[in-house]
Amino acid sequence: MFCVKCGKEEETFDGLCMECFLNGKQLITAPHHVDLERCTSCEEFRTGGHWVSRTLKRAVADAAIDSLSVIDGMTVKSAGASSKKQDDRNYLASVDVEGELKGVRVTAVAETAVRIKNTVCQKCSRQLGNYYEATIQIRSGMKELGDELRDETVRYVTSRVENLSLENRQFFITRVEEVRGGVDILLSSISLAKALAKELADNYCAEAKESSKLVGKAPDGSDMYRMTYLVRMPEYHLNDVVIFNNKPYKLSVVGRNGGKIIRLGNFGMTPLRRTDMQSLKVHTKHNDIMKATVVSVSKREIQVLHPVNYSTVDIRIPDGARIGETADVVEVDDVLFFVP
Ligand SMILES: [Zn+2]
Ligand SMILES: [Zn+2]
Repeated sequence: MFCVKCGKEEETFDGLCMECFLNGKQLITAPHHVDLERCTSCEEFRTGGHWVSRTLKRAVADAAIDSLSVIDGMTVKSAGASSKKQDDRNYLASVDVEGELKGVRVTAVAETAVRIKNTVCQKCSRQLGNYYEATIQIRSGMKELGDELRDETVRYVTSRVENLSLENRQFFITRVEEVRGGVDILLSSISLAKALAKELADNYCAEAKESSKLVGKAPDGSDMYRMTYLVRMPEYHLNDVVIFNNKPYKLSVVGRNGGKIIRLGNFGMTPLRRTDMQSLKVHTKHNDIMKATVVSVSKREIQVLHPVNYSTVDIRIPDGARIGETADVVEVDDVLFFVP
């Protein structure tokens, strides 16, 4: 076919060759410059309304590619960009595009200046400003929350926040404060604090209470509240030796719906509902359970040296128990028991 305008013989569109069809129109156009926001605190870049972790090179390339306009009817198959540094804040980016127009493969090149704008993202500005929406107060049913339980729960919350913040970058721990009777964990988000308070309560079969306090007005005029989630840890802890109905047990499972206890002496397992758990009395904390030297092992019994008076004592063991050089034991009413 001949172009009706210039007479060139090639494929035509609406009677025109590609060159005459485009008639000086650009396939792609880029603005004179594009601003790229970078947080000076976390060094993330804002692209498409989101803060993301990128190398500078990649962020500059993406900003240049995102700024392109493409002529009507052209579909972009691929785009790449390279950039040249002018100075610390200014980069000259060159974008190559491959696409299709009216069924014909086309390529085009455009240039734009990418200007780095230093700023502080909302998350960092909140973190730097000690922003918090909610507090989880971890306390004990006894007078003091022990160091071990405090460290264990703070560790749990810290690792959960680390994980959840991968999905939602607004999630962070503002502060952990040791206070009389326990520990307070201040969090950036009400929904985060609520979810973690529930997880803690479930994991430890603890009581959780929620309260709120009016702290002022939001910029839109609505009331702003701070939430407090009190998690009161029970006295018992997994693996403690407990007394239930006047008999000694090992607490072997603690969970949302209650727990399970193993009777010392005959090693029968009893499930407990959450309400039954309240009547458990701690006899020996799991980290105070004694070790006794094993003298001999038979199928259903072992002979051990009593850890206090060093007499030899025969105690029952459950079927299939693996016995090493020492065994965990506890003395309840002058009777020595093996703790499975
Ligand atoms: Zn032509
Ligand atoms: Zn930031």
